[in-house]
Amino acid sequence: MERRYARALGDGRLRCGLCHHGCVLAPGAVGVCRVRANRGGTLELPYRGAVSSVGIDPIEKKPLYHFLPGTSVFSVGYLGCNLKCPFCQNFSISQSTDARVELMSPESLVDAAVLSGCPSLAHTYSEPLVHAEFVAQAMALAREKGLKNVLVTNGCAREEAARDVLERCDAVNVDLKTWDAERYRGMLGGDLDTVKAFLALAVGMGVHVEATTLVVPGLSDDEAQVEGIAAFLASLSPAIALHLSAYRPMYRYHEPATGLGLIGRLAAVARRDLPWVYEWTGGLAPSVTACRSCGAPLVVRHGYRVDAGGLSGSVCRACGAPSPVRNG
Ligand code: SF4
Ligand code: SF4
Repeated sequence: MERRYARALGDGRLRCGLCHHGCVLAPGAVGVCRVRANRGGTLELPYRGAVSSVGIDPIEKKPLYHFLPGTSVFSVGYLGCNLKCPFCQNFSISQSTDARVELMSPESLVDAAVLSGCPSLAHTYSEPLVHAEFVAQAMALAREKGLKNVLVTNGCAREEAARDVLERCDAVNVDLKTWDAERYRGMLGGDLDTVKAFLALAVGMGVHVEATTLVVPGLSDDEAQVEGIAAFLASLSPAIALHLSAYRPMYRYHEPATGLGLIGRLAAVARRDLPWVYEWTGGLAPSVTACRSCGAPLVVRHGYRVDAGGLSGSVCRACGAPSPVRNG
C-alpha cells in the first residue's frame, strides 16, 4: 500500500492522485498538503508516522454521539492538511510542518492505544487522510488487537485512498463545511463534490457516519447552506447525525463568534430533513438522544459527562426499540 496513489508522468514528475488537488510534483516539489513530495522521481512521505499530538478524549469530542457513547478514545494527530481553512483551530499542525513530533510506527501507535485501555483509536486533529497509507496500516493492526477505528476528516480524498481507509474504519465524522461549491474551493481549497462522494462511499460501505458543520460567518451561517447539507445527508441515510458547532475567531479569521441563538435556528432548519441534529450549546443545556418510539432518554450529555443508561446495547432499555447508537 505504500505510496500507491502516485503515478509517474515519465519526465521525472509525479501526479499524486490521493485528493482533488491532483498535484503534479516536479522533482523536489512538495504537494499542497505539505507532506507528500517528489524526491528524485519517487513519491516520498517525509512525515510518515510523525505524530504531533496524542490524547485521550471523550468520544463525544470527535464529535461522535451515536458511537460507543460515554467511552474514551485514544486520539492521534499528524502534520499537514490538503485544505487551508482560515479559521483552523489546529493550524499549528495542519498548516505547518514545524511542530514537534514523535516518530511512531503503526505497531507502536497501536500498542500505545491498547495500553491506554480505550476501546477505540481515532486519527484526528489535523487531516489524517493525507497519510492514508499509514492510517490504513494502523487501522488494520488496531482491528487485529480488538480496537475500533475512528476517523475525523475533511473528506477530501478520492475513491482509491478513501476506500483503503474506510474498509478498515468503524466510525467516521466528516466535516461538511458549506453547501456552496465556490466557497469550498475559494475560501478553503476544498471540493464539495469530493466530500459528497466520500460521505456516500462511507455510508455505502457500512461505516458509522456522522457529520459536522462549523457555523462560520460568511461560509455556512445561512439557511440555504444548512438546508442543502441536511437534505443531502438525509438522502444518504436519515440515521446520520449532524453536529452544528460554533465558530470562534481563530488563525486568520476574525469575524465575531457564532451566537447560540443562530445555531439553534439553523438546527431547526436541519431538523426538517434530519431527525438527529445536535447543536452546540456551550454546555448550557444538556444534549439528549431520545427513543423515537417511546420518548425515553437513551443518552444524556452534560458537556462531556455522559449517561447512556437508557440503552441496553443498541436498543432502548424501556421499550426495546432500535436506536441509532452503535454500542459495540
Ligand atoms: S494528497 Fe497532497 S500531494 Fe496528493 S494531491 Fe492531495 S494535496 Fe496534492
Ligand atoms: S480541514 Fe480541518 S485541519 Fe484542515 S485546515 Fe480545515 S479545519 Fe484545519
